[in-house]
Amino acid sequence: MASSTTVRKEVEIVKGHRLDYQLYKYLLQYFSEGELERFFESIRKPPSRYYVRVNTLRVSPEELMRSLRERSIDVYPDEYLPEALWFPVKGPNRVPSARKYVLADKRAAESVYVGANLYIPGVVRMDEEVRKGDEVNVIAPNGEVMAFGISEVDSDEIRSTRRGIAVKTLVSVYEMPKVREMREYEQGLFYDQSLPAQWVGRVIDPRPNEVIVDMNAAPGGKTSHIIQLSEGKAVVHAFDRSEGKVRELIEVLSRLGMDGLYRVEVRDTRYLDVDRPDLVNSVDKVLIDPPCTDMGVRPRLFDVKTMDLVISMSNYQRQFIKVAWKLLKPGGVLVYSTCTIPPLENEDNIAYAESLGFEVVNISVPNASGGLISKYRDSVVRFYPHIHDTPGFFIAKLRKPDQRRQ
Ligand code: SAH
Repeated sequence: MASSTTVRKEVEIVKGHRLDYQLYKYLLQYFSEGELERFFESIRKPPSRYYVRVNTLRVSPEELMRSLRERSIDVYPDEYLPEALWFPVKGPNRVPSARKYVLADKRAAESVYVGANLYIPGVVRMDEEVRKGDEVNVIAPNGEVMAFGISEVDSDEIRSTRRGIAVKTLVSVYEMPKVREMREYEQGLFYDQSLPAQWVGRVIDPRPNEVIVDMNAAPGGKTSHIIQLSEGKAVVHAFDRSEGKVRELIEVLSRLGMDGLYRVEVRDTRYLDVDRPDLVNSVDKVLIDPPCTDMGVRPRLFDVKTMDLVISMSNYQRQFIKVAWKLLKPGGVLVYSTCTIPPLENEDNIAYAESLGFEVVNISVPNASGGLISKYRDSVVRFYPHIHDTPGFFIAKLRKPDQRRQ
């Protein structure tokens, strides 16, 4: 009798990080075993610098740095990107043991790991004995200790309460600055954004009066950078499929003082050419920052990825590229970025864009690598966690050829 259950063979690269066998074999075509290990080992930790982008529409980097330093906050300018500032991340710390524990979900655990408090919605289970004021350890779903802290609630309260702090974190494995609690954050003087993500804005190089479409805009990190680099003078169209995330984008951009400097719509941009025929052939620049397998996101303590997921993401991403071709004017520019590693979602999608008629525009960024496939070694940009101490990232720039030259 044939069995109906399929055995999924998985390989654990480092503690907590598993790939199905197909994806493992696939990645071994590009990375050595040792390099894959170093890659996933670094994914488990945050980068040693926590980056923010200064909102230069409101304040200069020097001024913001001065006011933070006046309050003894450790902050430094990036060596290359003028609007980028960074705070040192501390750790790993030795986390004291407590007798009682609180189990957090994966997302909450990963924030507690870098110093956040544990909020009630992130609690999966609490030791029955826990009373308000008790010392506790916050544990991740894989059993790892994230932090030591003080419970702010009794265990029997937890089911009836929806919001608020469950555990106040005192010692976590890593400590990132709590930038969202700084008054300059509330005042919209900066946005927390990784260094590679900030380079995307620079690669787009937005200019006043350009029509720019951001096809995957929420929560607005790159949209707001585009607005700020064009001094609010570009015609920026932000689209995202998720209504909730679009609400978040509107809030973020409002905090940054950018109300009225862009247009936003909830749209599945795979059909933008049909839904917004007015944009066809009339856009100067398009940004595609699509959903991806997220393999470069840090810190991530545990994860499973499969080849099927990589393949379906790659196909999904190509649908945006096809529409971008239709939206762009001849001579228009496409910037494509992801926070993941497989060439299928990166260089291979650039090859797909070329098959539609796009031409690659060579780019380079300081302290980053070139493409993983020899054809793109000097034309696209990659950041590697284990080499550049950043999230894993990919950036490419393409141009729709000018008709005169066709
Ligand atoms: N560019 C953003 C991050 C984008 S993350 C920033 O810098 O802040 C990817 C986004 O793609 C998600 O917000 C997701 O909602 C959106 N997305 C996924 N499928 C989409 C689709 N078919 N059309 C439009 N947006 C989509």
